[in-house]
Amino acid sequence: MTTLLPTTTAGSLPKPSWLAQPQTLWSPWKLEGEALAAGKRDALRLAVDDQRRAGIDIVGDGEQTRQHFVTTLVEHLDGVDFEKRETVRIRNRYEASVPTVVGAVSRPKPVFVEDARFLREQTDGPIKWTLPGPMTMIDTLYDAYYRSREKLAWEFALILNQEARELEAAGVDIIQFDEPAFNVFFDEANDWGIATLERAAEGLKAETAVHICYGYGIKANTDWKKTLGSEWRQYEQTFPNLQKSTIDIVSLECQNSRVPMDLIELIRGKKVMVGAIDVATDTVEMPEQVADTLRKALQFVDADKLYPATNCGMAPLAREVAQGKLKALGAGAAIVRAELSA
Ligand code: ZN
Repeated sequence: MTTLLPTTTAGSLPKPSWLAQPQTLWSPWKLEGEALAAGKRDALRLAVDDQRRAGIDIVGDGEQTRQHFVTTLVEHLDGVDFEKRETVRIRNRYEASVPTVVGAVSRPKPVFVEDARFLREQTDGPIKWTLPGPMTMIDTLYDAYYRSREKLAWEFALILNQEARELEAAGVDIIQFDEPAFNVFFDEANDWGIATLERAAEGLKAETAVHICYGYGIKANTDWKKTLGSEWRQYEQTFPNLQKSTIDIVSLECQNSRVPMDLIELIRGKKVMVGAIDVATDTVEMPEQVADTLRKALQFVDADKLYPATNCGMAPLAREVAQGKLKALGAGAAIVRAELSA
């Protein structure tokens, strides 16, 4: 990456209202068949355009082709029954009706590779693709077959690695695994979560990232945050082992969060995607606020390793709010970039 402070997003952006119901998670598609396929591609192009206009350097697909960051991948796997649903507690926080693992899991064919190729055609700049991490996948399913979270996570790691290698071949520069579960299940994360994540990323020449956050701005998450006290030190549990891991980039949230900024010190040497946009509020940040967060982060990460980003995905936000936040991110990073080059 030659640009100083290259900006990027955590991943998702809101979908156009003609494609899916806005501001809704797991929103059903409004189109079908070929019209849906074409609509997803058009939405992806618009998402790229919004990022380009906002000065975002590492562009993503805005997750326009998937209904949900975990479910859409899982839908394409054998061994999972989508008709057979069970209610589970996701991230130990909220109940959701999820599909059931009924047999050995496998990936009969690539899931996102065509979409990634299409994204590749839209820009000559660097592109990033997001996948759920193994531990977050198992936490969004009911397992009636392996009966072991760890065993299923290793299976998913193999599947993710196949997909990631093909995404890399399609021209993706950074492959990001989303592991919000690392902020909840510390013992499992340290026992086997980070190891399965490394397995998912094994052998990749593309850069690899792990995104760990406090979730979308939905009620279950904001209620949970209220219970976390005045300092959010969850990252402290996993960062020492992540620092030693093979993963290149760690994505964390810093804007309006109670995460003590000095926790970044624990991953010294890694590149850091610093969340400088709050996704849990409709208030659009001023560029100066973004700049302020980045300046604070620069106390703990070298400038050539800092990637300004959003705290988490922006899928549940109104489109104009997300567009404003993208612009604030681009403008805020530009302020600090100018200061560093002065
Ligand atoms: Zn997130």
